[in-house]
Amino acid sequence: MLYFLDGLNPDEADKSALHTSCPDGQEWQALLDQFIPHAGEEELLELETSIAGDPVTYCQHELNKPVHELAELEKQFTSVIIPELPVDSGTYVRHLSEDVLNHVVPVSSPTFVGHMTSALPKHLPALGKILTALNQNLVKLETSHVLTALERQVLGMMHKLVYNRDDDFYQQWLHNGNHALATFCSGGTLANLTAMWACRNQLMPANGDFAGLAREGLARGLIHYGYNGLAILVSELGHYSLKKTVDVLGLGQDALVKVATDRNGRICIDALLTQLQNLRQRNIKPMAIVGIAGSTETGSIDPLNVLADIAEQEQCHFHVDAAWGGASLLSERYRHLFDGIERADTVTIDAHKQMYVPMGAGVVLFRQPTLTDAIAQHANYIVRKDSKDLGRHTLEGSRSAMSLMLHSNFHLLGRRGFAHLIDASIEKARQFADLIRQQEDFELISEPQLCLLTYRYVPSMVLQALREGPESAKQKLHDMLNALNQNIQAMQWTAGKTFVSRTSINPAQWNRQPTTVLRVVLANPLTTPEILEDMLEEQRQLALQSPFWQTLQDLVS
Ligand SMILES: *Cc1c(COP(=O)(O)O)cnc(C)c1O
Repeated sequence: MLYFLDGLNPDEADKSALHTSCPDGQEWQALLDQFIPHAGEEELLELETSIAGDPVTYCQHELNKPVHELAELEKQFTSVIIPELPVDSGTYVRHLSEDVLNHVVPVSSPTFVGHMTSALPKHLPALGKILTALNQNLVKLETSHVLTALERQVLGMMHKLVYNRDDDFYQQWLHNGNHALATFCSGGTLANLTAMWACRNQLMPANGDFAGLAREGLARGLIHYGYNGLAILVSELGHYSLKKTVDVLGLGQDALVKVATDRNGRICIDALLTQLQNLRQRNIKPMAIVGIAGSTETGSIDPLNVLADIAEQEQCHFHVDAAWGGASLLSERYRHLFDGIERADTVTIDAHKQMYVPMGAGVVLFRQPTLTDAIAQHANYIVRKDSKDLGRHTLEGSRSAMSLMLHSNFHLLGRRGFAHLIDASIEKARQFADLIRQQEDFELISEPQLCLLTYRYVPSMVLQALREGPESAKQKLHDMLNALNQNIQAMQWTAGKTFVSRTSINPAQWNRQPTTVLRVVLANPLTTPEILEDMLEEQRQLALQSPFWQTLQDLVS
């Protein structure tokens, strides 16, 4: 759309206007109008109404047209010149609509079942607009006031959901500015980092002539306390945010010790004990054991009570990463799957996954609110000591009121409403697992423990050859099958009708060989069994079109 790119080019603009530092009256008024309510922008409002009112229909107006190649789209985004003069708003809205919004991914469609961030309740776009308009900053009271109180209330609700302490406890801590029951952050990555940050600092407090790790740093801390290093232990399904965590915290990536899993994707306790033994021999202090409650790849949940026992024996911190799975605590029927989570020192939950809040809403919870002493900061001009500024306990600085989004979902859906959504999603996953098991040419790879499962396409002749054929042929078949499933997933995304994600896992039933699987997360309540059935049929058709299908046929015939 060259007309637009031309608008961006200062060479084409009125040269005389380029060198005036003081705008003329008309130009200045036009700028002021950008900040004055009700002054135009009708085209954008129209677009907003049509998108926010019904994002699925909006995103699918291109339905059944294949997705454009990214290289093709990139051509509209090559200029690095900031437009010197404002472009006409009608032109801009046209660019936005035709070149950008026409090509976004319909993640809220019931046919997009591949990711953890899905559809949102319909009140949220309006609330998002209100939040943007009011632009409150939760870092400090002066720019958020009542929203600080509301955020603390929401964090209290989350704390109660996990730890279920009594009224006296919440009376004491909920609005106690010197500590926090939990903090909001942009997502699970920062929640995990915050939890491990507090854990690391608490591990090496001030002692004798050592002023504490937070002041003197890790190197001196290790010398003072006489360790060769620190380690965080998690199963091999641990989220990669933990790798960033050990890196940022200065422990080094090798400090993340990955423990093998059993055939259900749960951490192997024997392997964990062996790893702990190894660390002891090398004089490396296990800083934290991390349990996963809903792994990103297969949805598996570690035996949290057993991990809590071991952490207690080792006197190390116990963290539970329930970024995705934590929402299922809202279900009375399934919360028993998380037994032991209430013994965790810290817990990560993402409200922007199955709590149906837009992205940017992670929560880290502290069993003991005093743990936040390990990370509390203050700066005189902004987050003051003895104030209730939420920024004293957060890694981030300026931060929007995402807590209001969660507050509204809790009130407008209710605990019971959430429970119904969670229960229905898990039951749908089980139904889909049954459906996959009934197919001759699909194989269920991981059973749904929550609403997530993995499977793959495998023609029955190939499956038979993999089980009974000569060893020499198996590796080749396995590789081809991985290639075929990668190809199916890519073709499916490009076709633009439905979507699953894919990952590679090491299933016990296939000798832990890296296996490409299709991954489905059934969080969208509008996804029906019929949609899933049609999707299997679509994948079957795509498989037949894949060049790898023919190769596989040749290999087994
Ligand atoms: C999604 C996820 C994370 C990371 O959360 P972000 O919000 O993407 O930063 C961490 N751990 C688990 C288990 C997750 O599923």
